[in-house]
Amino acid sequence: MSKLSIRDLPLNNKRVFMRVDFNVPLDDGRVMDDTRIRETLPTIEYALRHGARLILASHLGRPKGKPNPKMSLKPVAERLRILIDEVMRRGENVGFSPDCIGVQAEEMAEKLERGQSLMLENLRFHPEEEANNPEFSRRLGKLCDFYVNDAFGSAHRAHASTEGITHFVEKKAAGLLMEKELEYLGKALSHPQKPFVAILGGAKVSDKIGVITHLMTKVDTLIVGGGMAYTFLKAQGHEIGKSLLEADKVGLAAQILADAKTHHVKFLLPVDHVVADRMDASARIQNIGVGKPIPADMMALDIGPETVELFSTEISLARTIVWNGPMGVFEIEAFAKGTKKIAYAVADNGAAVSIVGGGDSVAAVKAAGVADKITHISTGGGASLEFLEGKKLPGVEALSNK
Ligand code: AMP
Repeated sequence: MSKLSIRDLPLNNKRVFMRVDFNVPLDDGRVMDDTRIRETLPTIEYALRHGARLILASHLGRPKGKPNPKMSLKPVAERLRILIDEVMRRGENVGFSPDCIGVQAEEMAEKLERGQSLMLENLRFHPEEEANNPEFSRRLGKLCDFYVNDAFGSAHRAHASTEGITHFVEKKAAGLLMEKELEYLGKALSHPQKPFVAILGGAKVSDKIGVITHLMTKVDTLIVGGGMAYTFLKAQGHEIGKSLLEADKVGLAAQILADAKTHHVKFLLPVDHVVADRMDASARIQNIGVGKPIPADMMALDIGPETVELFSTEISLARTIVWNGPMGVFEIEAFAKGTKKIAYAVADNGAAVSIVGGGDSVAAVKAAGVADKITHISTGGGASLEFLEGKKLPGVEALSNK
């Protein structure tokens, strides 16, 4: 990796500002799911074991630039204390600063001793965070000697804590989680083992055009399922009934199909479908076999068994797999089978490097119980999508080069 890593920093006795993604679900001040805290725990442990004086900063929810006790990071600091205690066995307290900038935060950061940590209150209680305000960034920068970013999920945003602050700190490094994300996603795009198969799904073609265009020159096969597939099928002249259609994207879909031919990319679309009269668990459901038109009053909400077979065979031959987006309306059990079967197919290919990104496909892989068989599950939905589009992420660009 060309970016500085936390492992390159002489952390001992240094104040380290670590941007983390502790945007966890809270209910009445209780942390309902601490996955995001656990994911960054190795980086925190690394810093503490190397004698850092650790200052942790995150956003939580959308407080819209105003303090909101419902979105306070205080309960998160308490959960973090328990988790640090689990891995470090030291019974160390985690300090809490009720504001992320200002005299109190500066004094608390200054007083930290080696191996101690301090959590700052929600960055987004200040509108200057999302506005990437230089003065606010400078005040964040004042808290530390080194900057570490472990919040891959926020790296596609140029905010004060992900970008602005880096102009006021000399050394800016990636945390271990960030490093892992960049390594897997970076390698998949720059040096993929072939065959490289990308699976794209979800609702809209328009959301994934950037990814399709960027991957077109890199992959051997593009598999498209989910709602977005029907705009492509329409472009091929199929009857799609009431299925999701972006009418203004039919021309573009035809162009993409033509580009795939030019680039010798195999482009696979659903060949059979699970359709219903409405998007509802109690809907009238029917299977539409290969070559049959979708009736005018029905909409396709999942891929059919022949499609599962077709996609799974292709997936089994891959050596690199990137998956973003579900194959159907997987939130409703009756339309979740296709997505689940694709999750199994990806998991069953033990010879491939498999990368799953995007909230829905990650949820599907977890629901299918195969998350531990996936090489890398990205923690950043939007960020991983922008990475796959070939965009430069401001939070990554801002880190020091090695
Ligand atoms: P996205 O955010 O673009 O990845 O889209 C995810 C959403 O697409 C999920 O909420 C799915 O329910 C929805 N989706 C997937 N397949 C279909 C389909 N065939 N028709 C309508 N919506 C779909």
